[in-house]
Amino acid sequence: MRNTTSSTELSIVVPAYNEAQVIETSIERIASALQALDQSFEIIVVDDGSTDATWRVLQKIAARNSFLVTIKLSRNFGQQAALTAGLSQSTGDVIAIIDADLQDPPEEIPAMIAKLKSGYDVVYGKRTSRPGESLFKKFTAAVYYRTIAAISDVALPIDSGDFRVLRRTVLDAYLSCPERSKYARGLFSWVGFRQTHHEYNRDERIAGETKYTFKKMVLFALDGITSFSTKPLRLAFYFSLVCVSVAGFLAAWVIFSWLSRHTVAGWSSLAAIILLLGAAQLLVLGIIGEYIATIIKETKERPLYLVEQVGNRANGADDLGPDPQGFTDGRILKEATSSPK
Ligand code: UDP
Ligand code: MG
Repeated sequence: MRNTTSSTELSIVVPAYNEAQVIETSIERIASALQALDQSFEIIVVDDGSTDATWRVLQKIAARNSFLVTIKLSRNFGQQAALTAGLSQSTGDVIAIIDADLQDPPEEIPAMIAKLKSGYDVVYGKRTSRPGESLFKKFTAAVYYRTIAAISDVALPIDSGDFRVLRRTVLDAYLSCPERSKYARGLFSWVGFRQTHHEYNRDERIAGETKYTFKKMVLFALDGITSFSTKPLRLAFYFSLVCVSVAGFLAAWVIFSWLSRHTVAGWSSLAAIILLLGAAQLLVLGIIGEYIATIIKETKERPLYLVEQVGNRANGADDLGPDPQGFTDGRILKEATSSPK
């Protein structure tokens, strides 16, 4: 999976969707944070089907900076797919993942790498504060991370996103996972190895708006749950236990009332019980539907993403063939270009 001719020490992977307003500042800040390390590096920005000027801006910056590798996906495949596209193309011994909006400060990367080198394989960022995010987002994130950590079959760290640094061995393990629904932060926990966290304050987005609409957030959350837990599927069984106990209690009450010549009152209580049972059944059906949808997605075996163009490949490696090393989950539609437009 690895480009053995490369001598890049560090790869930074940045997914970007409609980030024309921030991408130049981001690349500048990431590059200056890395220059302090005195290591060879590449910054791989994946344009996840942006409809704004992101790709044009990227090509302009790439023309001046050979460390910048640009990958353009054929449409918006989502952050997780874009991330995997970039990771597949990375050649560094150590790889860092960071968002394009500078919410995760690149200045933390040197400290994270130092921690990695002290004897870890993954150092993931743990957010101690999230200023500038809506109360709703903070609340849903807090509930979600705790729920998924509680029900997941692997230990998922709380309050951490994709911001992390890792060694090549861990990345190879990640890329060898064949699933289509890549939930990166979960998979990076699942692979194991020696992991630790690095605490940091999450900043506000420097410009632009969150690319996670409510719908995207819900889909992302569901992807995480279906990928890392089968416990919701057992909900029907737990409901049935509750219902059997309540039904037993009610039956005893009805018999007692009949024996003591009292009529059991209330169509409204009956209606409430029927509605409650109906709702529980629909909920369970919905959950089963979610898992079936995941099975369908996986069995189709469509590529996770399609690469339209690769630009300014670092190390002069602009000769990507139809199925180059690295693109394990996606397909390249066009030959790479080293000359930015
Ligand atoms: N992103 C992406 N594809 C998408 C949505 C988001 O590549 O479909 C990128 C986005 O450009 C950013 C990162 O994923 O670099 C995180 O997105 P965002 O900052 O909007 O999410 P938030 O921090 O608000 O959760
Ligand atoms: Mg953000």
